[in-house]
Amino acid sequence: MTLYQRDERALSKLQKLRFFPLAVTGGEGSYLTGDDGRRLLDFSASWGAVSLGHGHGAVREAVDRALADQAGASTLSAANEPAVKLAEALLDLVPGGGERRVWLGHSGSDANETVARAVVAATGRPRVISFAGAYHGGTAGSMAISAHGVQKHAERASGLHVIPYPDPYRPYGDDPTGGRIIDELEQAFRADCPPDQVAALFIEPIMSDGGLIVPPKGFMKRLTDLCRSHGILVVSDEVKVGMGRSGRFNCIEHEEVEPDIYVLGKGLGGGLPLSAAVGPASIMDFASSFSMQTLHGNPVCASAGLAVLETVAAEDLVANAARVGAALQDGLRTLAHRHPMIGDVRGRGLAIGVELVTDRASRTPDAKAAAKLVYRAFELGLVLYYVGAHSNVLEMTPPLTLIRAEADAAVSILDRALDDLAQGRVADDIAAGFEGW
Ligand code: PMP
Repeated sequence: MTLYQRDERALSKLQKLRFFPLAVTGGEGSYLTGDDGRRLLDFSASWGAVSLGHGHGAVREAVDRALADQAGASTLSAANEPAVKLAEALLDLVPGGGERRVWLGHSGSDANETVARAVVAATGRPRVISFAGAYHGGTAGSMAISAHGVQKHAERASGLHVIPYPDPYRPYGDDPTGGRIIDELEQAFRADCPPDQVAALFIEPIMSDGGLIVPPKGFMKRLTDLCRSHGILVVSDEVKVGMGRSGRFNCIEHEEVEPDIYVLGKGLGGGLPLSAAVGPASIMDFASSFSMQTLHGNPVCASAGLAVLETVAAEDLVANAARVGAALQDGLRTLAHRHPMIGDVRGRGLAIGVELVTDRASRTPDAKAAAKLVYRAFELGLVLYYVGAHSNVLEMTPPLTLIRAEADAAVSILDRALDDLAQGRVADDIAAGFEGW
């Protein structure tokens, strides 16, 4: 029996999001090792989590050191040096004034859930605004403030007000600036969603699972100015696109917006479970025993996080993401000249989306092509998945350590896979049994 077959028999489907039969035995840098011995260029990096590439020496050393003289396993009832140091480092790296505190968790989900509960409890305002297509997590509380299509079994918060995300490729109300969305929110404030009832606006500075959408310039500033004018807190969910991935340390720095609360995850742990929320003490110190899990503030994970922050600075990875990401986008745009299936290429730094369409004029989403393409790319040695409300956007979130030659290699593989698809060399049912999302 193969590793993949054993996985099917032993591990629950509830936590799977599968696109092809990938089974890995190891990895190094930007590559995974398949159980068939193939080296696979990893353009997902486990959805952005493996920020420094696989098995980075700095993370290994930090984990070893933390375990060699282990300062417990939790921050709940004891201070430990790595957790405190990580929090101090984040207070330095994340902009903001006044008294602020850092909450440490395991995942984007627990961090967003904590923030969602804390803003409501601390302000006494019961409502939250988020975007259609937003994915803030997979726990009950984080799903409650999300609006992603995959979460069809989730219960939304009763006070959730959902607004469209401005998609320049598919403008809402024919307004590419997103202005219509803001007009409608102003109307809602006057009607069924009084702003003094709203605790926070949750934004994804690039909508990632909802389709890797870069908002039009100026939209986030207008939206957050409006919310701020009503005393609504702004929460930037940087879980996937923060930590340098966008070519700035915090993705929201591309806009002229200073959020009240930042949420970090995925890449922060470099592949270990770690997340953080950074915000005003009035919210983050609102109560004790309010949101805690036994292993929160784990010194081993915190040490890994510190190693990630140090390496991002030492190896200048924010600049690398900007530079290699720009080259990668150029390469993908060149591909678009040859392959009419590519409707749009977009992104910032090493957060890139490629939208597939049945024809460019109508922009009709081609989910089938996305499923077949990622499967074919996997056969050719490239791992990437797709996202989006129409399941048709290839998502690229490779390690921040990616080099130009690896970007070029991925473009070549995609070129071949697109050719194979266009020439009918990929079986229509190749991805049958892989549900994706
Ligand atoms: N926020 C964003 C923007 C995400 O992309 C994700 C995961 N895709 C999450 C939160 C949840 O993170 P996790 O799965 O690590 O809990």
